[in-house]
Amino acid sequence: MKRIKMLAGNWKMNKLNRDLAGFFGTFFEAVGWHQDESLSDRVDVLFAVPPTLLAHAVPLAEPSGVRIAAQNIHWETAGAFTGEVSVPMIKEVGVSATLIGHSERRQYFAETDVTVAKKTKASLVHEVLPIVCVGETLEQREAGLTQDVVARQVKAALADIQDPKDLILAYEPVWAIGTGRSASAAQAQEVHAEIRGLLLALFGHSIGSGIRILYGGSATPNNIGELLSQKDIDGALVGGASLKPEDFAKMVRAAL
Ligand code: PEP
Repeated sequence: MKRIKMLAGNWKMNKLNRDLAGFFGTFFEAVGWHQDESLSDRVDVLFAVPPTLLAHAVPLAEPSGVRIAAQNIHWETAGAFTGEVSVPMIKEVGVSATLIGHSERRQYFAETDVTVAKKTKASLVHEVLPIVCVGETLEQREAGLTQDVVARQVKAALADIQDPKDLILAYEPVWAIGTGRSASAAQAQEVHAEIRGLLLALFGHSIGSGIRILYGGSATPNNIGELLSQKDIDGALVGGASLKPEDFAKMVRAAL
């Protein structure tokens, strides 16, 4: 099955509303997005932005076929969960995707395999595209546990999912995130191939072969070409380089 490449930016806790118009203007111009209507059919682009920017970014991006994603959600629809935001709430303002289980949330905000599974389910129930992040720490890699850790995280996240209509996985080795030390294309491909095997075993060929697996961890305009040339790398989740519209535009162009 053909999997369209996806370039997903993760802005983390960066940018203000006043930055949005300038950012998207420069980004669309640098990609040539509005000069070629076929681009939005050939590459998927998404930005995961802070909660204060969601409602403002949607009208600047979604009409051009660029998705806006939340960086986190709660699994319940509503209730006494001070400080949390539900899937219907983000959906109401036009958000169409969410990041789930980013390693910074696992590391600093007590995200676990159990909460990741609940959030993945909630996102699918409300038809908001989940991007589920998995990946090993440096200690785990050095102890030879990469495949075990990643397999455990993928299985746990998808434990309660029978027929994922639209779902994306992101393999993000923790040691590569924000460090300037990307996994090599071969290292990433090796883990992506394992994840692909797992997806085929869990969901069968027709669904398992269609789920996209993104790589994340210090992806830049310099290394994106080699990463994307790997058989099982279907795109990238990009932190630092997605804050610079010209750099991220180069990465989108590399996917075309
Ligand atoms: C990320 O935040 O998901 C990420 C991959 O960050 P960076 O590209 O900066 O390593």
